Amino acid sequence: MLKYKSVILNESSICTGEITEGLFLRRYGVDIGFHCSISGSKGYVNAIIEANRFHLTAMQIFAKSPRCWRTRELKPLEAENFRAARALSQLRTCAIHSSYLINLGVEGELWQKSIQSLKDDLDKAHMLGIEYIVLHPGSLNIDHVRNGIFEALHQSPSTATLLIENAAGGDQRLGRKFEDIARLIENTTLGVCLDTCHAFAAGYPIHEDPQAFLDHLDALIGLERIPVIHFNDSRADFASGIDRHASLLEGKINDSLKYFLQEPRLQDKAFIIEIAPEKFLHNLGVIYQWQQEITVLKP
Ligand SMILES: [Zn+2]
Repeated sequence: MLKYKSVILNESSICTGEITEGLFLRRYGVDIGFHCSISGSKGYVNAIIEANRFHLTAMQIFAKSPRCWRTRELKPLEAENFRAARALSQLRTCAIHSSYLINLGVEGELWQKSIQSLKDDLDKAHMLGIEYIVLHPGSLNIDHVRNGIFEALHQSPSTATLLIENAAGGDQRLGRKFEDIARLIENTTLGVCLDTCHAFAAGYPIHEDPQAFLDHLDALIGLERIPVIHFNDSRADFASGIDRHASLLEGKINDSLKYFLQEPRLQDKAFIIEIAPEKFLHNLGVIYQWQQEITVLKP
């Protein structure tokens, strides 16, 4: 069996398709991607160029700087170029990660600014033809969060699906417990984005019994409502409440994450790794290695 250390990954092997040919995503439908950058002279299209370099089938972007309220202008021509570039790419799943400043669980000016920021992401998703928006909803006030989400949806023409992401910690934050997310999305068309790093840090033992964890999620939320998985390992300890992403095989969850790739119930999901670009090749190498093993395990 091919060992990870023996996998030679470099730019040329990626570009010739030598790597992607063996990928699980081609054979079983899983989409694989990274969070890509829209910075640079080509703007939004830059993210697709980055995705194409690695033959990705999934991609996430920030539609503006995620740590300031100021928005980023998106001209119709730029949006058109993005749509055209995507149509020529292998991308099957695209998501916008909303601003980290959003908190829909509070009152007053911050709530209003949060709605405007979310509406801005929804409008951009509409222009760019992006189907998912990932959202950290904010403080634990389910009714307030829900009202804020629906206000933003009401103000935007977008038909993108909002995915609530689970959080690593914070008792006062909505998202650490999946029970709260389940209550928020009940009787709505909202979905969920599962972040494996955050679940581990929040105290879900996905490293010991990933199957039981998925059974729990399926019963509580329904796996069909979780189209996107943030496939991150964790630098921080189990149940630490600390959000520190790590590359595959470089964190505390380690090779237990392989289970998620081979789980039949997750074969229609997009697996997106949120890591610095210099670690893209390392993570693709691990996935390639795991897929070789999974292929062996499959009948
Ligand atoms: Zn995430």
